[in-house]
Amino acid sequence: MNDEKKGKSVMDQIRIKGLRIYARHGVFEEERKLGQSFIVDAVLNTRLQEAGEKDDLNLSTDYGAVCEKITQVMTEETCLLIEAAAERTAREILLSFPAVESLELTLHKPQAPIPLPFEDAAVRIRRGWHTAYVALGSNLGDREALLKMGIDGVNAHPFCRVEETAPVYTTTPYGGVEQGEFLNTVMKVRTLLEPEPLLDLLQSLEQEAGRERKVHWGPRTLDLDLLFYEDRILTSPRLIVPHPDMENRDFVLKPLCDIAPGLVHPVSRRTVIALLRELEKNGEVHVTAKRM
Ligand code: AMP
Repeated sequence: MNDEKKGKSVMDQIRIKGLRIYARHGVFEEERKLGQSFIVDAVLNTRLQEAGEKDDLNLSTDYGAVCEKITQVMTEETCLLIEAAAERTAREILLSFPAVESLELTLHKPQAPIPLPFEDAAVRIRRGWHTAYVALGSNLGDREALLKMGIDGVNAHPFCRVEETAPVYTTTPYGGVEQGEFLNTVMKVRTLLEPEPLLDLLQSLEQEAGRERKVHWGPRTLDLDLLFYEDRILTSPRLIVPHPDMENRDFVLKPLCDIAPGLVHPVSRRTVIALLRELEKNGEVHVTAKRM
């Protein structure tokens, strides 16, 4: 389904067409030694209204600088595949120009070594930033420092930015295991990682925090759960998104509501504030205090 059909506002675009670059990509050694011309087209999805109204380049993305960045990435490395050259170029544009939300990049190789008459060979990829929400919990050790370690650990990843963190709540344990009180919070993350690599990152941070999976729902130094990844619905052996038990956890919904009350659960189609209100009325309440 396209964005218009989903009801999302369609973004403005900056379009670059026919940027010619002499570079050395190819599976044949000759191509990597001699080089050839490549042509790049890029469609950058971004917001342009404020720059347009104020006539100010600082509020937009300098397409000259984007062309230079594309040329730099395309020429400083040698790839076997144009897929790899396109992937690196798209990633560098997204990392270097934060106003670009997503892009479509077409990399043409019109002189590809094909011994047949042809006009062009090209790859086209679409890449972009995604918004995810991650719940954090800790009830062992220096709990505040461990939550901070989770937040800083995600933020330190080159493809993740923590955009917002909710207040921290003190909460009583969930799941019937006798154990100490938890601290819980939620963070909003802007990321270039797909859901499974994001889960890999979360699990590596849990490991770093010294977490051992001994008792289901038992004490933990640091627990990181992926709550939402855009409005995607995923079910794999490793990962269920949205997080399946979220509706029953006020210690997740409460901090989530502090930063994103209107977020719509893609399965139930209900907002998280509505889910919290229902849980507070009919369910188990675990949040005891707002801490900071
Ligand atoms: P927990 O002990 O509650 O942190 O559960 C961790 C297990 O749940 C891991 O084996 C994950 O692969 C799996 N899992 C499934 N969906 C998710 C999710 N949305 N976020 C985090 N872990 C998940």
